[in-house]
Amino acid sequence: MDRLTTARPCWAEINTRSLEHNYRFLRSFAGPQTACVAVVKADAYGHGLSLCAPAAVRAGARWLGVTSVEEGVAARAVCPDARILVMGGVFPGQADAVVAHGLTPAVWDAAQLNELASAASDWLLGPLRVHLEIDTGMSRQGVSLADLTSLLDNFTVTGPLRLEAVMTHLYASDEAVSVRTTLQLGRLEEALGILASAHPGAAPELLSVGASAALLGGQMEALNSLAERAKLRLMLRLGLALYGVTPRFTPPFAAGEEPETLARARRELEPVLAWKTRVASVRTIAPGTEIGYNGTFIASEPMRVALIPAGYADGLDRRLGNRFNALVRGQLAPFAGRISMDQSVLDVTEIDGVEPGDEVVLLGTQSGQNLSAYDHAEAAGTIPWEVFTRIAARVPRVAV
Ligand SMILES: *Cc1c(COP(=O)(O)O)cnc(C)c1O
Repeated sequence: MDRLTTARPCWAEINTRSLEHNYRFLRSFAGPQTACVAVVKADAYGHGLSLCAPAAVRAGARWLGVTSVEEGVAARAVCPDARILVMGGVFPGQADAVVAHGLTPAVWDAAQLNELASAASDWLLGPLRVHLEIDTGMSRQGVSLADLTSLLDNFTVTGPLRLEAVMTHLYASDEAVSVRTTLQLGRLEEALGILASAHPGAAPELLSVGASAALLGGQMEALNSLAERAKLRLMLRLGLALYGVTPRFTPPFAAGEEPETLARARRELEPVLAWKTRVASVRTIAPGTEIGYNGTFIASEPMRVALIPAGYADGLDRRLGNRFNALVRGQLAPFAGRISMDQSVLDVTEIDGVEPGDEVVLLGTQSGQNLSAYDHAEAAGTIPWEVFTRIAARVPRVAV
């Protein structure tokens, strides 16, 4: 028996062909004039970096996006030729690793730039390309418009740093009508004006702005026209959609106002991850029997319940206890009682013939029934990004 058939049965199947399909689909949506970063931060949104980053590259991705230098080094090990954008910044002492592994950092403060400049000079590999992040309203990272002019003094025509892209992050691109996005793009254009007027040493090629929601939610016109006015090539950074999840908009689009792009994405994007386990045992319980910690579920009639080896330490949200389902034999089986750390119990009273070894789908499709990342997120009061990234490291990611 191979390792998987002898392992604790709680695993995530990763369909790398679906990821490739999604990348190509998004790419064709974005158009040939637009550069696309395949965002593979946080272990490829919990899908497994070593499976997903090479798949994105196979599909044509030239850029990968990661959070940290550590993640960049891991991505470099599996994708020797990709450009790798480190979006979450470079911390003190990491500049040499940036240069050594050929990473491209997002930068926004003078201390980062100084360290990177001296590392780039030491290594004598030619100028280090960096992406300058502007804070256009999110107040998370990025240089403010007020500090931009003095920061730009770090870029000179012959210096060790080259400003390849101007970057910003939209913080409300999933709002159907976003005044915030309009304001952000206004501030970004102001920053581009400062850049163009004062600094011949800072002549970027790329304008890096917009994630999945901006591409699919109808903001491309605004982004394209801004890039055109600035004579820059637009760059998108695509995460969630790459994994087959179409972003939802809050508030949602009014009837008839949803962009066609979004409906098409829902039809064509393919989920990449399916999270599965198997029934460990089945027991019959009498009315009045309690299930799980603190007896939050009490059987009101004779029941059949199935134990599964998946709990909150596997990333199954504890808030799903008594309020969500898994799929067994193509039917919804409610979680009965609390989710434990390593196990949970399903009510399979209504499902005929359930027996130990039956495959259970926690997230994904079984016999035409589907439990999506959004279904999980809504039941647990969170977002699909968190559902995916919480699937624990002990759950093996298996290519299918
Ligand atoms: C995660 C991230 C993205 C990707 O966002 P999605 O909504 O998942 O497409 C883009 N840009 C930055 C800076 C990010 O951190």
